[in-house]
Amino acid sequence: MSEPDENAEAREIEAQIGAFFERVLDKVDAHPRYGVAVRRAIEEGRELVLNYHTHGPQHGWCVSICAAGTGVPLLGLEAPLDELAHIRGIAREESHCDPLMAIFAERLIRRFTLTAPPRVYLNGAPRV
Ligand SMILES: [Zn+2]
Repeated sequence: MSEPDENAEAREIEAQIGAFFERVLDKVDAHPRYGVAVRRAIEEGRELVLNYHTHGPQHGWCVSICAAGTGVPLLGLEAPLDELAHIRGIAREESHCDPLMAIFAERLIRRFTLTAPPRVYLNGAPRV
């Protein structure tokens, strides 16, 4: 019986998170370095990566918008990411990585008309 209300609540939360990431993208776009770096990477057709990460147990979670590295991968390791923009304090929980990054990716695709969805990394390692 309560299912429709729960769905409405979930949609409302998702809309609020989406609006939050729209403001994040406004700031990235207006930032003197970040906006230029993100747009250049997209123009160059580089693959974007969202690196959800923390700087330690006392810290919250950040997301970096990165471009996939262009170096030759050695010994099975991926080329390091080139960080384009760094956004601090977007979340408190590791477990929020996938749902938050799914919404952020969707907003990025829409904002910059990306042809490929960004890949999601957790602390610098690709999500499986
Ligand atoms: Zn960080």
